[in-house]
Amino acid sequence: MASLHFVLFPLMEPGHMIPMVDIARILAARRATVTIITTPVNAARFRAAVDRAVGAGLEIRLLEVRLPLAEVGLPEGFENFDLLPSADLHVQMFAAMDMLERPTEDLLRGLSPPPSCIVSDNLFPWTTDVARRLGIPRLVFYGPGCFTYLCLHIAMNTDVLDGIESDSETFVVPGIFDEIKLTKAQAGSWGKRDSDEMVDMFRRMDVAEKGAYGIVVNSFDELEPKYVEELAKVKGKKVWCIGPVSLCNRSLLDIAERGKKSGIDEHDCLKWLDKKETASVIFVCLGSMSSISNEQMFEIGSGLEASNVAFIWCVRRTTEESERWLLGFEERVNDRGLIVRSWAPQVLILSHKSVGGFVTHCGWNSNLEGVTAGLPMVTWPHFADQFLNERFIVDVLKIGVSVGMEEVVVVGDHDKFGVLVKKDDIKKSVERIMGKDEEAEERRTRARELGKMAKRAMEEMGSSHRNTTSMIQDIIEQLDNK
Ligand code: UDP
Repeated sequence: MASLHFVLFPLMEPGHMIPMVDIARILAARRATVTIITTPVNAARFRAAVDRAVGAGLEIRLLEVRLPLAEVGLPEGFENFDLLPSADLHVQMFAAMDMLERPTEDLLRGLSPPPSCIVSDNLFPWTTDVARRLGIPRLVFYGPGCFTYLCLHIAMNTDVLDGIESDSETFVVPGIFDEIKLTKAQAGSWGKRDSDEMVDMFRRMDVAEKGAYGIVVNSFDELEPKYVEELAKVKGKKVWCIGPVSLCNRSLLDIAERGKKSGIDEHDCLKWLDKKETASVIFVCLGSMSSISNEQMFEIGSGLEASNVAFIWCVRRTTEESERWLLGFEERVNDRGLIVRSWAPQVLILSHKSVGGFVTHCGWNSNLEGVTAGLPMVTWPHFADQFLNERFIVDVLKIGVSVGMEEVVVVGDHDKFGVLVKKDDIKKSVERIMGKDEEAEERRTRARELGKMAKRAMEEMGSSHRNTTSMIQDIIEQLDNK
């Protein structure tokens, strides 16, 4: 048998890179060699985590490829979507990513042992062609879970959106197991109605996906059994749910520094949490990409202050004005609230027993991490797949309360909108999630059950563990048949 070598190629965005690095560790723990290909700035973000994994005996390599930013008119160094100030620049970023085909293929041809399989983000459609030329399978990595991908598939491959005139009109997603209502803007913010370049990108992603061997999803079978099956059916492919991948992080450092170094010392954070009562704290974090105006930030703070609930609030970006406001705010709330600037050790916080709820922007990783921690959630989507993820948490799993966000707001647009969710709605939804009434208790019980199922899925012989084994065996068979 030839040696097994997975090449992972994540999209340069925290919500895609973080789970891929986890997947690298999961595969390497099964004795495969794993190479992660990314650009220098992104490699630097993950070097410490990879070095720790290598120190623990895992065979993981980080290989750099230069992203030709100058060629598409972007400044050097802007190698991650979280460094781009506006969504208007995404098209240029995609153009630069497309130019990686040749250099990546050259890198892969020089690898030893030779690659057995490419696992790449669906936003790298050309990796299907590279894999074909190398005679190896390509697996598509899906960011969101199966429910959301099925809904996106329906929105983009049927005429359901065509007959709807206004962006604010709601419609019911046809042909699925639950009644899911969305507006056209919320369902279509993933490409169908974007620029010509994006329409072409989505067409190429679709063709590439058809040519791929299978699909890898950060989810677990028990979370969405009907949707896993239906996704495999509509895509005509094997779908392997191998998550929640965040659970592969065991050491304090791996958990605390997952993604980036956080804006608070993990020991200080734990000390603060240790002093709070069980399930009394709500964690507020709107992800790595979503941006909000100063006014919206003040509204969140005022809502939390009025709620009387203890909280940890991750504030991603501040200005001079918001820093001044935060100083007064921190004095007023005193020990009831903890502000973390820039980046929070999210998984560490969510898994602490003092945390009882999560205000989330509904990025899929965050939702799954909330599920894994057994927490009910306040949902506050901004763009892309997040409105669908919200529906999954609220309508399908029934473990969430929506904060009432309706507008789609992409990066760079936040100042245009100012306040979209009012202080009172934030206070009310936080109180509903953290409340003690029957409805809140039922939500909490369901969330806790799901948390247990998530952990079981990743244990030896759990569903995700078995799916990982079956995926690896499948690739080995492909190799043996070559
Ligand atoms: N994350 C974190 N600290 C932060 C913000 C985000 O650890 O302050 C992590 C979070 O745990 C998740 C990822 O970054 O794994 C964000 O991915 P997600 O899909 O939730 O949303 P995105 O940021 O891509 O919109």
